[in-house]
Amino acid sequence: MEFESFQSLFIKNFECNGLKNLITEENIEKFYHLTHLMLEKNSVMNITAIKEIEKIIPLHYADCAMIASYIPKNSKVVDIGCGGGFPTLPLSIIRSDILVTGVDSTDKKVRYVAETAKILKLDRISTISARAEELINTPQMRESFDVVTSRAVARLNILSELCIPFIKTGGYFVVMKGAAGHEELEEAKNGIDKLGGRIICVENKKLFIDENNTENRVIIVIEKVFSTPQQYPRQFGQIKKKPL
Ligand code: SAH
Repeated sequence: MEFESFQSLFIKNFECNGLKNLITEENIEKFYHLTHLMLEKNSVMNITAIKEIEKIIPLHYADCAMIASYIPKNSKVVDIGCGGGFPTLPLSIIRSDILVTGVDSTDKKVRYVAETAKILKLDRISTISARAEELINTPQMRESFDVVTSRAVARLNILSELCIPFIKTGGYFVVMKGAAGHEELEEAKNGIDKLGGRIICVENKKLFIDENNTENRVIIVIEKVFSTPQQYPRQFGQIKKKPL
């Protein structure tokens, strides 16, 4: 797709999603470049099931951009299960003030994200290839981030145990969920409490795809109000078998 066509699709979609403030020439150029790098890599490894640019803009870029306003200025962010770089890459493009660490257990995805960040000159991205529940035991990881994000990794009752231990007291877990978010939240409430979290905001959003389609999203913000007890996170087998 030519740059001009991409640009008009991008502008229309971001405007319809209430993200007008993120539309700049530089951001559009970076997203255009990212789209090409991603689709090129997608022919040799599985990064995205969404291949049409008309869908990539809403379902990957606008979807991830929607959480930007929940992230305080100059935050140190960790994205658990970043896969092919969502939300790591879009967040870093639109928020030059934040540091983002993309974490994923699949090494080749992490390598792709690191290479892409380098090409796009997103030098405030760093990457780590590891499982979250193991990485937490590395010195300087536990409770060292202002914000944790995570998209499409696990149900919230499991995800909370993987993510909340990374946040400093006073920091936030910004959860991206589809329509099932409310139900997942009910199931996860008990665990969130035990892990030191407190739900401070649950917001329903409509993601505009095109004239005929929208999708429901729920953004949940959990504040870390006390330090996570040392026994969490447990090993993954236990987390999965017996969620908190
Ligand atoms: N966040 C990306 C990828 C979602 S796919 C997106 O929204 O497109 C889920 C990713 O989570 C996979 O890449 C998988 O390798 C990773 N993952 C699953 N469990 C994990 C864990 N315990 N620690 C780190 N990464 C994990």
